[in-house]
Amino acid sequence: MTYAYDDTNIFAMILRGEIPNSTVVETDHSLAFRDIHPQAPVHILLIPKGKYVTIDDFAANAGPEEAADFWATFASVIESEGLREKGFRVISNAGEHGLQEVPHFHLHILGGHAMGPILA
Ligand code: 5GP
Repeated sequence: MTYAYDDTNIFAMILRGEIPNSTVVETDHSLAFRDIHPQAPVHILLIPKGKYVTIDDFAANAGPEEAADFWATFASVIESEGLREKGFRVISNAGEHGLQEVPHFHLHILGGHAMGPILA
């Protein structure tokens, strides 16, 4: 399967520096920044800089260096935001049924209070 990447998506614009973002950490291959409409006291979006549409696209097609960088950045966000002790939630919406709004793979990292159940 091929994943058609749309260069006009808002996260591509953020990566090109065309619109501002509130950066938490940036590495060679990854960017973590605060969601513009936070759903929890901590709501961070973690994205690879590579052009991956969904989490399964990234899982199937990212190179080892990009993947290692992504997960190291994930761990550093959990650490720097103080989320390890009390815990957190990670969500990745994919495609139509996942109600993915922005077609550039991202993890939502949510924390800072107790979450409700996911029953959808
Ligand atoms: P999705 O539904 O694709 O998983 O979530 C996309 C997320 O991107 C939403 O939580 C939305 O608030 C966030 N978002 C959309 N546009 C922007 C933006 O311009 N800047 C930031 N920081 N977040 C955005």
